[in-house]
Amino acid sequence: MESEVLPKERIRFGSRDIAYSILYKERKSVGITVRPDQSVLVTSPPNLSVAKLNVLVKQKAGWIIKQQSYFLSFQPLTPPRKFVGGETHLYLGRQYRLKIIVSKKESVHLKGHYIFVYTKMKDSKRVKQLMNNWYRHNAAVKIESYLHECKKLFVRHHLKEIKVELRSMDKRWGSCSIKGKIILNPELIKAPKRCIEYVLVHELCHTKYPNHSSAFFDLQSQIMPDWVKWKSKLEKVMS
Ligand SMILES: [Zn+2]
Repeated sequence: MESEVLPKERIRFGSRDIAYSILYKERKSVGITVRPDQSVLVTSPPNLSVAKLNVLVKQKAGWIIKQQSYFLSFQPLTPPRKFVGGETHLYLGRQYRLKIIVSKKESVHLKGHYIFVYTKMKDSKRVKQLMNNWYRHNAAVKIESYLHECKKLFVRHHLKEIKVELRSMDKRWGSCSIKGKIILNPELIKAPKRCIEYVLVHELCHTKYPNHSSAFFDLQSQIMPDWVKWKSKLEKVMS
């Protein structure tokens, strides 16, 4: 029988409170998991007291906070745009200035430091729609080709068949199911190529290890030794 004990337990670590719930299970060791919603689950053998678990959680507090901030920082933060001329928009990590031109034929393309939007109506809603379609199309093409490259880095790791889907998400860059389906936020196309590859590598590592275990991070560092750099760049460029 498994039962998650409520209400949550709490420990104090420096200036922070760490709340966690306990799941008692027939097992020999204590396991600590930080979920993507930043909640903490402690899986414990049946005979351990809450006092003892508090001590163990306190010992792991540094790691828990690191995991929590990891999930936090993975949230897209791009400020809203108005889709008016002169505004800057990101594409693959570069800033482009928006130029809106009324035209019979609608299209979007990059030239120099500009993103040209040819539109039938000089209306920000229409401009937004045209740009979003353009972003989405490019996201699909680029991410597919980057994924193809990234998969080659895992040649010794026998990856499963991977399916990728683009889906707008408020709070995540990507997610991965155990069955090997990777869902990516099309907003990623605004980030530099290496940042996108970092997210792809991260999600591909999840097809091997669903949690952020040390084995997961070992594999991620092996595949992309400088991932920390691209992770922090992603956070900076998109905020
Ligand atoms: Zn992850």
